[in-house]
Amino acid sequence: MKIVVVDNSRVNLKILTSMLEEHEHSVVSFLDATEALSYTRCEQDVDVVLTGLELRPISGFELCWETRLLVSRGRQIYILAMSSSTEDGKLIETLDSGADDFIRKPPNLQELLARLRVAERMKYMQEELIKLATLDCLTGILNRRAFFDAAAAHCTAADEGADLTAIMFDIDHFKRVNDKFGHDVGDKALVAVVGTVEREFGLFARMGGEEFALLLPNAGKEKALETAEKLRSVIEALDIETDNNSKPLKLTCSFGVSEWVKEDSIEGLLKRSDLALYLAKESGRNQVQFNKHTTNDFIPERSEMIEIVELDPNVVELNS
Ligand code: GH3
Ligand code: MG
Ligand code: MG
Repeated sequence: MKIVVVDNSRVNLKILTSMLEEHEHSVVSFLDATEALSYTRCEQDVDVVLTGLELRPISGFELCWETRLLVSRGRQIYILAMSSSTEDGKLIETLDSGADDFIRKPPNLQELLARLRVAERMKYMQEELIKLATLDCLTGILNRRAFFDAAAAHCTAADEGADLTAIMFDIDHFKRVNDKFGHDVGDKALVAVVGTVEREFGLFARMGGEEFALLLPNAGKEKALETAEKLRSVIEALDIETDNNSKPLKLTCSFGVSEWVKEDSIEGLLKRSDLALYLAKESGRNQVQFNKHTTNDFIPERSEMIEIVELDPNVVELNS
């Protein structure tokens, strides 16, 4: 693990650094607590901050507190405080300041290594929990909630003038795939469709069922339409193996595209893409539609949109 060690004694730092380095940890040490904090703030790969409490120019408690504020869903840092004091009050204050654990100073090597193993386990468990909370378990891409969280920064940039477009797409007649080939082949088809989307396109999420969203930062209308059209044709060309030795399954998707407008919101942007997606379905599926409207005011009644849908059995070849 990468450990930032902070202490007011140069000798202690030297001893701790060589002890930890001998046990395969990578160590960066600091006498100055604010320098340690700046380093931890910038270097995203710091796993543990091991700190004394009697520090300058800010106290160890403040360092624990400020380091705790750096911890987020995307970033884990385990804070291990050291103090020679055996007062209960100090231990309580340390933990209340954001430390995860506390060790006597000077630390006993075996005890320190054991506490670092706990840190490693905690970090692993937290990472697993974050994955479970943010990624779709079938396809491994972002889930709806994580998509909205990650989209926030792009919306801020769009407010400041950057281009932003959103593509919503949905597999055509997917229910028939499940009905004819079973849920397992349906799952395989979902994974295959996701595999066609290159990660550098933008923020990609499964919004639910067989519906996906792709947010394209710094891409205007033309680029978004080009991307959607490329995806449409790649998906149309996919051959998905089924288990019954018959022809591979073919499927298509319908796409709706919209672009960020003044005073927009991620909800508005996606809603307009979704309406364009409905239009793509209504107009025969396996196509891209752009929503040229700049507000959500035009939204037709839901019944108006869905009553027109006429299922075309030829759109999806189900090897019948
Ligand atoms: P349309 O072209 O109008 O989108 O028709 P559709 O059949 O794709 O849409 P519909 O909403 O009627 O059916 C979606 C189907 O997607 C129904 C549901 O069982 C299936 N589905 C949703 N999530 C999963 C999943 O995780 N795995 C599988 N295999 N099927 C799923
Ligand atoms: Mg569908
Ligand atoms: Mg759907």
